[in-house]
Amino acid sequence: MIMFKGIAASKGIGIGRVLIVKEQDLTYEARTVIDTHAEAERFSAAVAKFTADTEKKAENIEKSVGQKEAEIIRGHILMIQDPFMMGEIEKKIKDGDCAEKALDEICSMFSAMFMSTGDELTMQRATDIEDIRKGLLSILLGREEADISSCPCGTVIAVGDLTPSMTAGINKENIAAIITETGGYTSHSAILARALEIPAVLSVDGILSKLSGGQEIIVDGSKGVVIDNPSEEQKAEYSAKREKYLADKEALRAFIGRKTETADGAVVELCCNIGKPSDVHNVTESDGEGIGLFRTEFLFMDSASLPSEEEQFEAYSKVAKAMNGKPVIIRTLDIGGDKDVPYLGLESEDNPFLGYRAVRYCLSRPDVYKPQLRALLRAAVYGDIRIMVPLVTTVEEMRQVKTLVEEVKAELESEGIEYKKDVKIGAMAETAAAGVIPDLLAQECDFFSIGTNDLTGYTMCVDRGNSKVAYLYSAYNPAVLRMIKNIITEGKKAGIPVGMCGEAAADPLLIPMLIAFGLDEYSVSPTSVLAARRTISQWGVEEAKALADKVMALRTEKEVREMLEANAKN
Ligand code: PEP
Ligand code: MG
Repeated sequence: MIMFKGIAASKGIGIGRVLIVKEQDLTYEARTVIDTHAEAERFSAAVAKFTADTEKKAENIEKSVGQKEAEIIRGHILMIQDPFMMGEIEKKIKDGDCAEKALDEICSMFSAMFMSTGDELTMQRATDIEDIRKGLLSILLGREEADISSCPCGTVIAVGDLTPSMTAGINKENIAAIITETGGYTSHSAILARALEIPAVLSVDGILSKLSGGQEIIVDGSKGVVIDNPSEEQKAEYSAKREKYLADKEALRAFIGRKTETADGAVVELCCNIGKPSDVHNVTESDGEGIGLFRTEFLFMDSASLPSEEEQFEAYSKVAKAMNGKPVIIRTLDIGGDKDVPYLGLESEDNPFLGYRAVRYCLSRPDVYKPQLRALLRAAVYGDIRIMVPLVTTVEEMRQVKTLVEEVKAELESEGIEYKKDVKIGAMAETAAAGVIPDLLAQECDFFSIGTNDLTGYTMCVDRGNSKVAYLYSAYNPAVLRMIKNIITEGKKAGIPVGMCGEAAADPLLIPMLIAFGLDEYSVSPTSVLAARRTISQWGVEEAKALADKVMALRTEKEVREMLEANAKN
């Protein structure tokens, strides 16, 4: 037995036999063509076939998963039809390059361009380009693409990089799990694996050279663990875990359409976090009661230039309309730290998490911030949009944002443009400062939403991504718990609603603490809605308070975690 670790990209447990999907041989001999016209036609025919094949795959995915996922595949058609890219390839063919070489070189050029941005989302486009390159080359060379649609039931696919088009060919009944050597949690392949509900562990270093085809293997997509050649005991242990996972998933369906309330009937709100307008579909499907955090920076990161007021208005109003009057909390641009937007030209800093970011950047750049505020006020006409300000550390910051909002309102008024006059403005409570002066900030805010991802980092002085100090990055630390309690208590004392949109809001161990502190709104990822609703339903307020009293008297993270674990309901 050998155990490997990777990124837990899609939950669930798969047990089966390995199929190593080898890279296709796409080598070719570059040649100079004389009849460039015929070569251009050969290339067009390959594009037409690629487009037809891709559309077929997209239809497949649309039926088995959904429209949104199919759009990822259809994106390839749009990319290959991009006049600039096509024009560059055709130009090379006209100059005498064979279609394979022209395609190869232009795809490499685009790929390098996307990779050089260093931005995760833009870099994913390089994977799409690579997918297009391989698909077209295999057509031009007449070599069949690896067919994984007909593998036997219980197959665990091991592949270098699972491309979106390969994922689209998967027959979900037959694939027990997926393992890759590269790719991150937010890669398109990971998104598709989650949508197909196939357990997946990604980025397992050098795994292909360590596995043999046909061997038995266990993939725990919830923990990011792969066990090659498992013992009988391990197979029995993981089969039982798998049964439990599936039964649990089924049981959660009973919570669809239910109110979110504690065992003794205290009703709270259970909303979702989203990054793109198209994610709204996941919110309605998972029965979220609103949007507690729309991270607008993805609109900016996903675009090659600053999105205009109009584009932003479209995005925000689309979400507001789709949510049909339910609350939609939209966070204003939160860039800097680990989120770079290349065209904004932010200088690199020694301590980016302590630097020029989020509200600090926005207040110094009204030319960037005002169009966003205008778009938000205009879109608010179409639903219950509320504006949330990230990384607030001082009272002045909130006052300045509100002054800017008033300025924007006056401008819209004088321009005769429709907007909503009484949009609520709140702060993300996610800094140590906010945790210490919530009473002062509450006087300036219509609501708070606690961002425990950053609050944990800024309280413990730990960078979320640094594995050397990861042991300190835990919301179970008494320091973080006191911050959370303080923010909720002071917010409520001031009479404003307090929510939480950091990952802790979905943590079943912390939920009783949040109930005890009186949290009004929980905002979690769409996939966690039903589990959170169930955990909330299992606790009575008094019972949660009794546990919280004991927990708040503890002195170490370990003691807290152990007590919460010992009292967990399932
Ligand atoms: C947080 O900090 O808890 C949060 C929700 O925001 P983000 O993860 O986008 O920083
Ligand atoms: Mg944050």
